[in-house]
Formats: sequence, C-alpha cells, structure tokens
Amino acid sequence: MKKAGRMLKPVVSLAIAAATVLTMALCLPFNTLDTEAAKKITEADINAVRDRIKANEKKIKEYQDALASIGKDLDSALEAKAQLDQQIQYIQSNVEETEELIVRYEQLIKEKEALIADRESQISDKYNDFLERLRISYEDGSQNYLELLISSDSLVDFITRIDNLGSVLTYEQRTMDELEKEVSDLDELKKSLDIKKSEYVELGKYQSQSRADLNSKLKEAEQLVKKLQSDENAAKKAQQNAAKQDAALDKELEKLLKEYEKQQQAEQAGAYLWPLDSNYRSITSRYGWRILWGERDFHLGADISAPYGANIYAAKDGTVLKAQYNSSYGYYVLIDHGGGKATLYAHSSKLLVVAGQKVTRGQVIAKVGSTGNSSGYHLHFEVRVSGKTTNPLTKGLLVIKYNGKMVDPVANNLLKYYC
Ligand SMILES: [Zn+2]
Repeated sequence: MKKAGRMLKPVVSLAIAAATVLTMALCLPFNTLDTEAAKKITEADINAVRDRIKANEKKIKEYQDALASIGKDLDSALEAKAQLDQQIQYIQSNVEETEELIVRYEQLIKEKEALIADRESQISDKYNDFLERLRISYEDGSQNYLELLISSDSLVDFITRIDNLGSVLTYEQRTMDELEKEVSDLDELKKSLDIKKSEYVELGKYQSQSRADLNSKLKEAEQLVKKLQSDENAAKKAQQNAAKQDAALDKELEKLLKEYEKQQQAEQAGAYLWPLDSNYRSITSRYGWRILWGERDFHLGADISAPYGANIYAAKDGTVLKAQYNSSYGYYVLIDHGGGKATLYAHSSKLLVVAGQKVTRGQVIAKVGSTGNSSGYHLHFEVRVSGKTTNPLTKGLLVIKYNGKMVDPVANNLLKYYC
C-alpha cells in the first residue's frame, strides 16, 4: 500500500488499524474500473463445441445401434416373408392338385352314372322282353306247347324245343341277374367315388382356408417389412445428418482452436508477464478508489502478496527508467516498454537493475520487500499507458504460467482477492 506525502504518528495507530479494516471493507465498491474486454474465445467456448461433438457422436452411436437392431428385425421379417411365400406356393399347388382330382372324380362319377343308366335300360329292356315272353307262355301255355308239339318234327325235337325255351328263359334270367349285379357293383363304385370326391372337396376347402390364412399372414409380413424399411431409411437419414453435423462441428472446433491458438499467441506476445512466481496470486489491494486512513484515495496499482526476497520479474522487454528509493514506493523499478507503455514495481527489498539498463521479459529485476509506505511484504505493481496508470488486473492484459500453460489469470479466475 502506498500513500504519498503522509507521515504516520504513533498516537493514531489505533485509528489506522480501524481505518485498515474500513479500507478492506470499502475498497470493493469503488472498484468499478474493470473494462470488459472484446469478445474472446475461451476454453469454455471450445469445451462447449466439444460437448456438442460428444452429444452428436452419442446420437450417431444410437442411430447405429438402432440401424443394427432394425437390420436384424428386417432380416427375420424378410425370412418369414420368404417362408410364407414358399408355403403359399406349396399350398397353391396342393389346391390345384385337389381341384384337378375333384374334376377327375367328377368325370369318373359321370362315367359310372352313364354306365349305370345304360345297364339299367338294358335290364329294363330285358325285363320287359322277359315279361312279354312269360305273358305269352302263360296266357296260352297249352296252345303254345301244342303248337310247339305240332311244329316239332319229333318228340325229341319237341323236348329239345321245350328245353331250349327253358334254357332261353334261364339264360335271360341269368343275364338279368348279372346285369343287376353289375348295376349294384357300379352303384357301389359310384358311391365310393362320391365319398372320395366329397373328401377331396373338404380337403380343397381346408387348403383354400389355409391359403387364405397364409395370404393374410403374408400381408402382415409385407407390412412389417415396409415399416422396418421406412424405419431403416429414417434412421439412415438421421445418421447421415448427424454425420454431416459431426463434420461441421469438427470444422467449427478446428477453426475455433486455430483462432484460440492465434489469440493466445497474440495475447501472450502482447501481454504482460505476471511479475511474480505463479504461486503468488493473492491480491491485497486492487487498483482504483479506496478508503485509506479514512480518506478517499486512488490506488495506482495492484498489491500482490509475496514473501520477503521473492523474485520480481520484468513484465516485458524494455529499458529501466528508474531504479531507486522513494519514501512512498520504497525501492522501486520503472521500466519503459516503448509505445508509451511502462510498468512499475515497488516496495522491494533489493534492486537488481540500474537505470538505463535493458531488460528482457521474465528477467529478475528486484526482490520482494516492504520498503517505503508499506505495511507488509508485497509487490505494488503498476501498468502505465501514455503516462496514465491503468488497472493491471484487466482481462487480456496479463499472462501467468498455470498448469504448464500461459493463461490470463483474470479471465481464468486464478486470483484471490482479499479486499
Ligand atoms: Zn499498492
């Protein structure tokens, strides 16, 4: 801390202690000079794109899994459909065979019916004929026998004739019996053909029903195949879109990383190096208005706590303008960096450079102390632009080595504020 041109008396030490507490409490509200840096790419931006890539890749994986599962379902649906096709083809040929058999049986039955009709008419003719003969024989039997006897050449002839008549009658009787037997056989055959035919008709009905069932199953299978194919197409499209998005995101990330790297390089090239070792990041007083000793006071730099003798580094290349003692700054170094830019390092215990000396960024120029108007070991660090001080703890102004990388301590919230 510094307060130019003011000497302390021991009697007011109690008031000082109280004012210090007040300063600690009040330094914050006056500290509104942090300027918002231009929109910069942060690691959070990069991580956001990486998260989007991860989410998108997860989606792609989900689509792949879905496609694999749909593919399996589709395979089995197609197989089921092929089997149904085969079954239908088979049952179709069965139906056709049965229909042919029915037609053949119908022909056979017709043939048998024709035969039966023919034989029946033969029987009828023979029967009528027989009846006629019988009627003639019995109506006028004696006359006939007499006529037969007269017309016979001899008794032997007569007997022969009588016998012949009997034989004829017996023959006709037998023929008729045979015909009747044939009719009855044909009828039996026809009946068995009828039964066979009706069996085939039943079989045909059953086969037609099976065919209808299989056809409706085939329709279902075809619908399932259609649905799965459309699902597959949708998943493929979604996957393609996700893949496109993945490529776009990769490009976006690549671009962002390039810009980020450029930005980092530009920042680091132009940035002021943190003037202490990177483990000293405690800020005990900020830049700007504060209450000191009960009065408003403008603090021209930032106070960074560090132990006695710690290294103080040049924040940038430059020329030492001053390396001397001052009642308020104590031992301090002022470096000119050119272009109207300068940095000041105060309250040191030891100076390691002299005025006029060229220094390089990171060179040890002094050691931490508590000389001048100071109440503890710390570095009072100022940044000046065109002769005016500016808040050194502004985003984009400083870099500090952190986890092996050069980063902005303000943007990355690496500083601890104790005021
Ligand atoms: Zn200070």
